[in-house]
Amino acid sequence: MEGTPQRPSHTAELLQDILERARQLPDEGRCADYIPALAKVNPDYLGIAVAELDGRVHIAGDAQVPFSIQSISKIFGLVLAMERVGEPLWQRVRMEPSGQAFNSIMQLEWEHGIPRNPFINAGAIVVADALVSHFSASRSALIQFIRQLANNPLIHADDEVWESERVHGNRNAALAYLMKSFDNIQSEVPAVLDHYFYQCAISMSCVDLAQSLSFLANKGVRGGSSDVVCDQRSAHRVNALLSTSGMYDQSGEFAFTVGLPAKSGVGGGLVAVVPDYGVICAWSPRLNSYGNSHRSMFMVTTLAEELGLSVYN
Ligand code: GLN
Repeated sequence: MEGTPQRPSHTAELLQDILERARQLPDEGRCADYIPALAKVNPDYLGIAVAELDGRVHIAGDAQVPFSIQSISKIFGLVLAMERVGEPLWQRVRMEPSGQAFNSIMQLEWEHGIPRNPFINAGAIVVADALVSHFSASRSALIQFIRQLANNPLIHADDEVWESERVHGNRNAALAYLMKSFDNIQSEVPAVLDHYFYQCAISMSCVDLAQSLSFLANKGVRGGSSDVVCDQRSAHRVNALLSTSGMYDQSGEFAFTVGLPAKSGVGGGLVAVVPDYGVICAWSPRLNSYGNSHRSMFMVTTLAEELGLSVYN
């Protein structure tokens, strides 16, 4: 009825309740500080959004505040590269969990410069190389792709974070040069790193992220539309990789306790795909030792339990 305030949906009430419970948790962990610009973020930010496939979006807390998406950007880069490069990409990056930290270098030497999967840094740098080699302006191709998916033309990379990644990116540079020595990087390393750091520095809110990834819950078709983002097989493959490698070296535990394809970033964001239902995105900057957000993990885990969401049910 006109003039009657809309009752919050059951999901919105549930999100609010879970958010309040997350707020009460002890202040474990800390913001990523190896990228100094990320250490400046207020660690008490807390938000969650759920974008359902019918277009409904439920939110609680700081769900509309943009934050540094960091490794969550690896999903967008991968989908774009899979669409443009196709099968040859899988000659250069594998689809196995790494069992190592996301920025580990040891395995890469043993395995002749072929990264274990596209969601560790080395793998994402190979994907960045594929994009840099394919597009004349890869950064703008990627940001246009993301803006379209999120239906938000204002999404952009944060210059301060981008610069901070560049200045403190020695380990990523080491990964890239090592792979170049194995002929697994085609373009010039500085150009590839520039693209990689740029994509990590993109800022998006929980709502932007949940909406932009709805195609993964919908066999490649953007939720609430008939727009084909990728074919069904690509969506299946990305979800499979998210399930086995999206939460770094905690992916097994996340599958064991939650059971949803998911991706985290050191900005504290966490997205989880619920096939045929929608996408959850939580954000809280304090991280555990794996680089995953404590409170985001708590919120997604609790919501999945309460709603009985798991691909293994
Ligand atoms: N920009 C970060 C890095 O390259 C991304 C890592 C992450 O979010 N896990 O180290």
